[in-house]
Amino acid sequence: MATERTLSIIKPDATRRNLTGKINAKFEEAGLRIVAQKRIQLTMDQAGKFYEVHKDRPFYGELCEFMASAPVVAQVLEGEGAIAKNREVMGATNPADAADGTIRKDFALSMGENSVHGSDAPDTAAQEIAFFFSGLELVG
Ligand code: ADP
Ligand code: MG
Repeated sequence: MATERTLSIIKPDATRRNLTGKINAKFEEAGLRIVAQKRIQLTMDQAGKFYEVHKDRPFYGELCEFMASAPVVAQVLEGEGAIAKNREVMGATNPADAADGTIRKDFALSMGENSVHGSDAPDTAAQEIAFFFSGLELVG
């Protein structure tokens, strides 16, 4: 399997509870390298653009408000099959369904406040990385 990069976001519920280091440890233990990382606070407009794919879903407004409610940590994870591996480390969207040892099982509060975002395919990974990071910020 090829080396890939994927976009991860540590969400406001997790930054509020000071869980950045614990979540990053899970990525590193799984063999994912954090090759870019920044803590920022999204505006409603930026959150809305990032999650535009969900704009017709009933939870869209609530999701954008949540994502803009406190700082997030945007990061690029790199490794063999990083996109699928990160989804595995994250666990299911609903923490009630997440496997033992996953980030969402251990830390998520609810379906909405579920601690992490991860890209779901190569095309979305490339788009989402470019949303947060310039080429100059990706040093490997
Ligand atoms: P994932 O983050 O696992 O890829 P989705 O792309 O389906 O999940 O949804 C994006 C985000 O929207 C979820 O991580 C979660 O924060 C929120 N979300 C999804 N479904 C719901 C729901 N039914 N109620 C509230 N929030 C939701
Ligand atoms: Mg998704």
